[in-house]
Amino acid sequence: MNLDSENADDKYSLPRNMIENRMFEEEPDVVDLAKESTTFPVALDPDDVVYEPRSSRLLVRGLGENDMDEDDEDCESSARLLGMSFMNRSGAHRSLSSPYTRQGAPRSCARPSARTLVVCMLFLVIVASMTMVLYFLPGCTFTRSGCPKTNTTIPFEKVYPVSTSGEVFPWAQLRLPRSIRPLSYDLTLNPDLDSMTFTGRTIIHMSVLHNTKCIVLHSAYLNITKATFKLGDGQARGVTVLEYKPREQIAVAFTEVLKTGQDCVLTLEYSANLSHTYDGFYNSSYTEKDGSKRVLAATQFEPLSARKAFPCFDAPDFKATFLIRIRRKPNHLSLSNMPKAKTTQLPNDVIEDEFEKTSVNMSTYLVAFIVANFTHISRNVSETQVSVYSVPEKWEHTDYALDTGCKLLEFYNGFFEINYPLKKLDLVAIPDFLAGAMENWGLITFRETSLLVGKQSSNLEKQVVASVIAHELAHQWFGNLVTMRWWNDLWLNEGFATYMQYMSLQTVFPQLDIGNLFLAVRFRALDKDALNSSHAVSTEVNKPEQVEEMFDSVSYEKGASILLMLNASLPGDQQFRKGIIQYLKEFSGLNTDTNDLWNSLTQVSAQHPNVSEMMSSWTSQKGFPLVTVSRKGGQVTLTQEHFRLTSDNATQTSSLWIIPVTYVTDNCSVAPECRRTFYLKTKSGTLKELPESVKWVKVNYRNTGFYITHYEDGGWAALIDALSHNVSVLTHEDRASLVHNMFALSRLGRVSFHQVLHLLKYMSNETHTSPVTEALLQLGVIYRLLDKRQEHRLVARMKSYILHQFGSLMDKQTWEEEDSVSKQELRSALLGMACSLNEEKCISQSRALFKQYVESNGTSRIPGDLQQVVFTVAAQSNEDWATLLTMYGQATYDAEKRKMLRGLASTQDARLIVWVLKAGLRGDVIQTQELPLVISTVCNGFTGYLFVWDFIQENWDSLIEKFPVGSFAIQTIIKSATSHFSTQAHLDQVQGFFYSLRERGSQMRSVQEALETIRLNQRWMEKNLATLEKWL
Ligand SMILES: [Zn+2]
Repeated sequence: MNLDSENADDKYSLPRNMIENRMFEEEPDVVDLAKESTTFPVALDPDDVVYEPRSSRLLVRGLGENDMDEDDEDCESSARLLGMSFMNRSGAHRSLSSPYTRQGAPRSCARPSARTLVVCMLFLVIVASMTMVLYFLPGCTFTRSGCPKTNTTIPFEKVYPVSTSGEVFPWAQLRLPRSIRPLSYDLTLNPDLDSMTFTGRTIIHMSVLHNTKCIVLHSAYLNITKATFKLGDGQARGVTVLEYKPREQIAVAFTEVLKTGQDCVLTLEYSANLSHTYDGFYNSSYTEKDGSKRVLAATQFEPLSARKAFPCFDAPDFKATFLIRIRRKPNHLSLSNMPKAKTTQLPNDVIEDEFEKTSVNMSTYLVAFIVANFTHISRNVSETQVSVYSVPEKWEHTDYALDTGCKLLEFYNGFFEINYPLKKLDLVAIPDFLAGAMENWGLITFRETSLLVGKQSSNLEKQVVASVIAHELAHQWFGNLVTMRWWNDLWLNEGFATYMQYMSLQTVFPQLDIGNLFLAVRFRALDKDALNSSHAVSTEVNKPEQVEEMFDSVSYEKGASILLMLNASLPGDQQFRKGIIQYLKEFSGLNTDTNDLWNSLTQVSAQHPNVSEMMSSWTSQKGFPLVTVSRKGGQVTLTQEHFRLTSDNATQTSSLWIIPVTYVTDNCSVAPECRRTFYLKTKSGTLKELPESVKWVKVNYRNTGFYITHYEDGGWAALIDALSHNVSVLTHEDRASLVHNMFALSRLGRVSFHQVLHLLKYMSNETHTSPVTEALLQLGVIYRLLDKRQEHRLVARMKSYILHQFGSLMDKQTWEEEDSVSKQELRSALLGMACSLNEEKCISQSRALFKQYVESNGTSRIPGDLQQVVFTVAAQSNEDWATLLTMYGQATYDAEKRKMLRGLASTQDARLIVWVLKAGLRGDVIQTQELPLVISTVCNGFTGYLFVWDFIQENWDSLIEKFPVGSFAIQTIIKSATSHFSTQAHLDQVQGFFYSLRERGSQMRSVQEALETIRLNQRWMEKNLATLEKWL
């Protein structure tokens, strides 16, 4: 999946400083839950800790079955059968060490033997009597701290839940048992776009892997109307389906044992509503130019929503084949993963399209189907027909996508040495789509802005489309062909696709200049991973919201960054490629975990330390190292420590990484041959071969390593001195990394803000995009923070500092069409900053361009990279805001339309801000999919950021109805709304609000991140206000 990266724009993340954070003095794993449970937002499921009120029994929660031996398992089943589910399995057995308890591969639902029943009966009488006593005493009676106000620390765990019908549900875990494996699905779907409902029939052929008496699978919001079961060659018979809604599971329980090796078939008929959100089988509509409304239905299943369209084993490692039939009206077409096999006319003007059975085994989250009246263009590449679909009136915006898709498909076929395995590949632009795109096998779905560009579009707009296509196509191998075993290793899909998207564009479309963007992405990944609330690349996940939360910058951007680091550290440019070809071939059609990837890469690489050893240190622990360089004459010592913005002595970690430290010196510093590598595996190491005559050392050549460097003993001064004489002594990536690292170190408290300003002095000679955009971004963050604190004097001085430092470069920018992507990026950053600081020339140029655009009635064009600046300036006048709104309503070109929306949301008029927010929530004038973008834009302004906070509190329930708890959209909304706060009062408000949500959001990692960020902002302000007064 490609997240909507414009929403992910971290441009406005805020400065953080090294502080102590009481909130995080104790990691969740050392919190005394008995003491803290009412205030600490650890990821405790309320289900874990409360009595089951509906039942007359005390149900206690079962442990993962890997913790039990056979007899235990039988005992528990017996207890259940006897209606006496008392089993105190807490205490020593229950681990509080992590809120993300691993659930090992569960096996099967077993029934007790007669012998164990008797033994268990005796045992249970004893246990039950003891438990009865405990039951009638408050759960806290025997705890050290006595009885607190609430009883949220009951030492009991629930065994088996009660299904909707009142019967015991035969499975007690979130993950499905592994006793049954689906082999193939036969799906028939019959959507009714008038009533917005659908009916379906799912036939699942399965194989029994272990003896079992039940089949458990997923289903959510489906009303199952008929169920039949057939074992081997036996007769099909009706069966009862039990449902346990909280876990979105259904089950069929049998009196006989299904034996290992047997085949069976479950057929389920059901009805449901088409979803009104952006996942499952959902409906969408759009209005054509003539005003007529069109409806369509599409799917988005990743991560957990296939179960909302058909009952299935909805986990990535239950791969199977799919044969899909879709019924539709004659004025629609239908699409699915495979090419159409046949079409049948049914009564009542209904047509049934049957698609070929998938030629590959695939995970449920990759299944897709669409019913709409789209048009398409096609071309053949090798054995594959590539097509781009859109709504009819946008078909002329599809050429670029087709061309790009074809070129990239050819590239990947060659690069991976495995041909794309399907006969067709459709790229479809969907009018209502929340993510950036989704890699469904053979039927990739996109937001319109991620796929459609006009002939006049700038290269910068093409860059967006090309990189999303490159990402999704890479998934056809990484993710679709070889899939992560479970969502804890989502990065194997997303980190890889993200890395490949940059890598392939650099090779196939060098004119799109993707390097600057990839560099900026790595900086943002470092910023996020510096927080204590970050997580390891490979992280335990079980609950749905934890799965949703994996779609974040750690899985995507940090994942991509460490792959770049690995590739750059391997000798030659083919070893990495050979390793991944080996991995793809070895695990084709299968599921893997992180170690499988490292093992494949280790096999092809003879280097020391081995890949597996090195890379595990980057995927198994959160954060990244700070490498400090100190120098005494010819001896250069490198020391590593965990770079953490929030830390204190009590929580210092002993994390160590195996770091491929690269470096250059003033003797040779730009060409790739200059690069030297030193493997820093321990706390510190010494570079021996450095001659004393060397003036300076620059570590992390071209910033390919995922770490931050600090130079002691005059190291910074020597580098700054070298740059002030000649900026070309370092590559532009190295210069940008000095800028980024310096700001990061000032937040950490290792360098003063004075040193930051000292480095920025060289900027008057800087002309390359990446160092300038990084400096502007960092200064912009501080500027906005001061603005929000209403530090008027400092705001004015900051403004004149920025204009003084970058004024001549701003003046040099033109307002005409510009071809170079790099120059477009530089120009839009500089002019965006100039206009936001109300720089006169910038404002008047923008206004003139807008006027010309309006008066020409759309015939004159604003260069794509300047549209944002121009629309934002226009929106500051109420009259032009109204004009912009009319234009927004009429615009059909999506990239432009989105920039108009950002303009509209940047108004400082309070009434208009409220209108924009409400319209985004309603979804009529502004699509709800754009709400995260609207919110993040509104928050940048002083007027808007307080409104947004109220808006979110008031509308929280509507928000999580549209965007799932933990999802990237919710992460963006929380971050936008809170990252501008820097006062205790706001911290208290944010904390109070999110804690009050409980299971409706308090457990999210982004809440911890928000609180940590506010505290860091607060500390940064306390520490630096005086400094800024002095030095600005
Ligand atoms: Zn992706």
